[in-house]
Amino acid sequence: MRECLELAPDAIEVDQASVVQRLGSSRTNCENGLFQESFTAAQGFLAATARPRCVVQTVDLATFAGLYDGEGSNDRDTPLEVILERSEALALFVLTLGQTITDTIRRLFSEHDYLVAALLDGMASLVAESLVESLETRFGRHIAECDGKSTTPAVLAYSPGYCGWHVSGQRALFSVLKPNEIGVSLGAGCMMRPLKSVSGVLVAGEPEIHDFDPGYSCCSGCDTLECRARIARVTGPVCAKREVAWICSDG
Ligand code: SF4
Repeated sequence: MRECLELAPDAIEVDQASVVQRLGSSRTNCENGLFQESFTAAQGFLAATARPRCVVQTVDLATFAGLYDGEGSNDRDTPLEVILERSEALALFVLTLGQTITDTIRRLFSEHDYLVAALLDGMASLVAESLVESLETRFGRHIAECDGKSTTPAVLAYSPGYCGWHVSGQRALFSVLKPNEIGVSLGAGCMMRPLKSVSGVLVAGEPEIHDFDPGYSCCSGCDTLECRARIARVTGPVCAKREVAWICSDG
């Protein structure tokens, strides 16, 4: 399965409390008129300039294992290696909000409109993350339908540049997925262009496969422990599923 998807701009939602938290501000600092006015302005820029698109392609384990080794720069031991051994299905993905929103953020900063620029930047990152969650949900449902099962597997996304998977892995991932179809390419240091893009692999399986002790070599310098919140999303008592109405844009 390979599909290109896009999202109508009016399907993008952003929650003020999450943006405030992302910016590290306290809620009370954000109740004044200037903040509210800037938030509304940033929302307007988001709706006008974000153009979410993605490409998703299933891969078998052997193909992914070759791709994951990439240029041999991964950590000696990584959580994803262990997760892969117990996975049921895999899909590569690249998702982008497009170039215009990045240009707009840069322009707002250059015009010293710092609050609106920072709000738009935070909104864009949150939207990209939540859209990746929607791809996880969509892939889980796709597998359940293919297998004729009533329960969906737990799907989480893993990305080059995190948790021991070296960022140079982007090159192997891009060579298979070819996301130039949605306007994403690699620049210096394997940074994606446009900047507001996310790449990686969707890994499906029993919820437990995503759970592990964070004792890998990459974990010693980690101050986010982001994996804990992600694991809780699929193993917690209430597993909220992010759904958005992606539209198939193939051919
Ligand atoms: S502790 Fe940090 S580096 Fe280790 S798996 Fe979790 S998020 Fe990744």
